[in-house]
Amino acid sequence: MVKFLDLAAQYQSIKQEIDSAIRDVIEKSAFIGGEYVSKFEQEFADYINASHCVGVANGTDAIEIAIESLNLPKGSEIIVPANSFIASSEAVTRQGHKVVFVDCDPESYVISIEDIRKRITLNTKVIIAVHLYGHPCDMDALQDIAKQHRLYIIEDCAQSHGAEYKGRKVGSIGDIAAFSFYPGKNLGAYGDGGAISTNNGELAKKSRMIANHGRIAKYDHEFEGRNSRLDGIQAAILSVKLKHLPEWTDKRIAIADSYLTELNDIPQIALPIRQKWAKQVYHLFVIRVDDRDDLAKYLACNGIQSGVHYPISLPKLMAYSYTNQASENLYANKFDSKLLSLPIGEHLTQEELKKIVSTVKKYFTSREHSPKLR
Ligand SMILES: *Cc1c(COP(=O)(O)O)cnc(C)c1O
Repeated sequence: MVKFLDLAAQYQSIKQEIDSAIRDVIEKSAFIGGEYVSKFEQEFADYINASHCVGVANGTDAIEIAIESLNLPKGSEIIVPANSFIASSEAVTRQGHKVVFVDCDPESYVISIEDIRKRITLNTKVIIAVHLYGHPCDMDALQDIAKQHRLYIIEDCAQSHGAEYKGRKVGSIGDIAAFSFYPGKNLGAYGDGGAISTNNGELAKKSRMIANHGRIAKYDHEFEGRNSRLDGIQAAILSVKLKHLPEWTDKRIAIADSYLTELNDIPQIALPIRQKWAKQVYHLFVIRVDDRDDLAKYLACNGIQSGVHYPISLPKLMAYSYTNQASENLYANKFDSKLLSLPIGEHLTQEELKKIVSTVKKYFTSREHSPKLR
C-alpha cells in the first residue's frame, strides 16, 4: 500500500530524539509555558526570520487570535479565498466579522489578485492570504492593494512552513501570520499545536495576552482573553522536527519535480503551476482531472491512497449558503469536483513514486481503463 501520509514511519526515523525530548519535558514538569515553549518559539521565529513567534493551541486559534489582535470594528469585511480549509473563514465569523469569498488562481490555486480588486468595499479591512498547498500568494501584489485600501494582511501559513516568496519565508511578510502544527502538516506536532508570527511587537504582545487570559503577569488580567497555549511536550517535539524540516521539504520538492516531469505529457491532467517567484513546499500535490473520482478509485484498486482538497468549495458549503456565492462563476466552484491530491512527503520511496506515476499513466493510456470506453 502506498500511503498518502505515514507519520509512524517518520517517527521511526527520529524515534530516539523524540523519545528523549518527551522524557526531558516530563522529568522537568515543563508542561505549560516554560523553557521548551520559549525555545521553540525562538527557533521558529529564527527559521522564518520573523521578530516574534507566539505558540498557541492550534492553527484555527492562531487565525482567530490574529484577527482579534487587529482590533477591528465588528462587522468588518474580511477577504478569504474560496478554495481553502474552513478554518480560514470560520475564524472570521467567530470574531464577529463578515466573510467575503474571492476566487482562486487557476494555475497555482492561491487567491486571485484580479478577483480581490472586484470585491473590496469601504468595509473591507483584512485579506487572509492562504499559501495553499504550500504555494505562496503574490505578496507584492497583495501589499500594493493593502496599502491602497488600508487593509491588513493575515498570512494563513498552515500549509506552507518554509515556503518562500521572492526569497523571503512566508509568515514574515504580512502584518501577522498563523501556523498550524496539526500532525499531518509539513511541520506537525503529536497532537494539536499552532503559532502566530509577526514583526510587529504590539500585535505579538496583544496576541500573547489574548491567548493567555488577557494577562501578562499571573493574576493581572488587563482584559478577557482565552486559553490557547502550545504545550511543552508539543513544543519539544516541534524543536526536534524543525531540525529535519529543511531536508523533508527538499524531498517534497524533488517528488513534485518528478511528478511535474513524468506527468507532463498526459493532456488529460492539469498540473499545478509554480509561479516563478515561488518556493513551493508542496504540503499537497494537486492535479486537476475531469473524472477525478474514477481515477481515485483506480489508484485505490492499485494500492495507492490519494486525497481531495477540498471536495466542496467554501462558498458551496451549507455553512456559507447565506453568502450567496455558491452559484457564482468561480474557478473554485468548478474545480472542487476535479482536484486530486497525489501522495507526497518524505515517507515516499523512489519505488513508490515510480508506481504512482506508472499507475496514473496506465489509467490514461490503457483503453481498458479509460472511463469513456468502459
Ligand atoms: C490545517 C489548516 C488550518 C487549521 O489548522 P488547525 O491546527 O487544524 O486548527 C487553517 N488553515 C489551513 C489552510 C489549513 O490547512
